[in-house]
Formats: sequence, C-alpha cells, structure tokens
Amino acid sequence: MTYTVSDITKEFPTRSGPLSVLRGCSFRLEPSQSLSISGPSGSGKSTLLGILGTLEPPTSGSMRLGDTDITALKEVELPGFRRRQIGFVFQEHHLLPQCSALENVLVPFLAEGRLTSERKDRGVSLLERVGLKDRLEHRPSELSGGERQRVAIARALVYEPAVLLADEPTGNLDRSTAAQIADLLLELVGGTRLVLVTHDPNLAARTTFQSRLDDGKLLS
Ligand code: ADP
Ligand code: MG
Repeated sequence: MTYTVSDITKEFPTRSGPLSVLRGCSFRLEPSQSLSISGPSGSGKSTLLGILGTLEPPTSGSMRLGDTDITALKEVELPGFRRRQIGFVFQEHHLLPQCSALENVLVPFLAEGRLTSERKDRGVSLLERVGLKDRLEHRPSELSGGERQRVAIARALVYEPAVLLADEPTGNLDRSTAAQIADLLLELVGGTRLVLVTHDPNLAARTTFQSRLDDGKLLS
C-alpha cells in the first residue's frame, strides 16, 4: 500500500487576510519507508503533520493510503481511521497522568470499548519492546522523560498504524536519551511509514528520505 501525499496547501484566515502556510507539499512512502522533515520554527511542520493526521483539513491537495482517499473521508469516519491507521508521537508525551504505563498504551483500545486479553498482551509486549517491562504499573510522574516518550511510542503503535507521525519527538530530551529514542523509533517502524519532524541532523540522516520545509514547499 503506497501512501501518497499530493500538493497539500493550507491557508489560515487571519484578520490581516489569508496566511498561506503550505504551498504544495508532496511525497510518497511505501511500507517501512521513512521521511524526515526539517525547517525553521514557524515554517509549517506541525501544520503539515496535523493535516497528515486528519486533525485538520488541507485547503487543497489529496492524501491516499492504497485505495483509500483520506481527504474524501467523512467526518464520522475520521476518528476510527485515525485511531487504526495513524499513530502520533509529539514532543510532549500527552500521557494520562492518572493511568499506568500499560493503561496509557491501551487507551486507544478503550475508545472502542473492548479490551480482550489478546489486546492486553499486545500492550505488554510493546512495553517490553520499548524496554519498560518493569514499569508497566508506573504512572507518568514516576517515569523519566525518556521513559515517558517510550510509553508514548508504544501507545502510538498499539494498532499497528499505517502511518506514524512524530513531531520533534526527541526535542525535550538530553542528547543520549534522544539518541536512544531515535534508535527505538527507527527500529520499531516495521511495516508502517514514518514521517518524522526533527531539528536533529543526525536523526534526519537516518530516515529513507530527507526533506526540508521551505517557503511552504517540501524540498528534498
Ligand atoms: P512549525 O511547526 O514549523 O514551527 P507551525 O506549523 O506550528 O510551524 O506554524 C506555521 C505557521 O502557521 C506559523 O506562522 C503559525 O503562526 C501559523 N499558524 C498555525 N496554526 C494557525 C492557525 N490555526 N491560525 C492561524 N495561523 C496559524
Ligand atoms: Mg511545530
């Protein structure tokens, strides 16, 4: 299944007229391929990820996953599509403070109201794979920054999404922790397609394709 993003534009209405942030962004990813996006603050990287994540519609352009025209999905179809096909990892971990590491990873399943033992096992095995076997019952406040980001990565992968979107996932971490989280992300990509926004040239160099967002356009 090819993930094809074609000519995405985004304009925001503002009091001083329309603000054109994205002016035509295109790329294609096959399973297991990854794309890094760099660019100065304010260049539109998070705006692009929000559109890829179906959190916000583009002004124009299209996104396809195999035969599915993502841009044509109806409002009611979006939450389910997002939950199953898209994983998010942000700079902030966005974990639920009152829930354990394992519960946080299982949250996407709870949205569908069914928690089978198979799904619970999947959560446990993902936490094992991110090196948190001994932290299943820890709450976010009882984890280090790197460990929280590991939980967030496990949560993002719990449905085996087709696309994993990561917005500066190592931005809040010290260098050696950032390198470990980067290793983990690239190792766990598996069959999904990774779109990674990062300022770190070492991390960017490790993805299949590299691009830069400049004046609203994605340049390779
Ligand atoms: P980056 O993630 O590259 O730092 P953003 O995507 O967050 O950049 O923002 C790109 C530009 O779009 C910024 O100039 C920002 O002010 C503007 N912007 C983002 N969201 C909105 C919005 N909802 N309304 C108006 N302008 C916005
Ligand atoms: Mg941003």
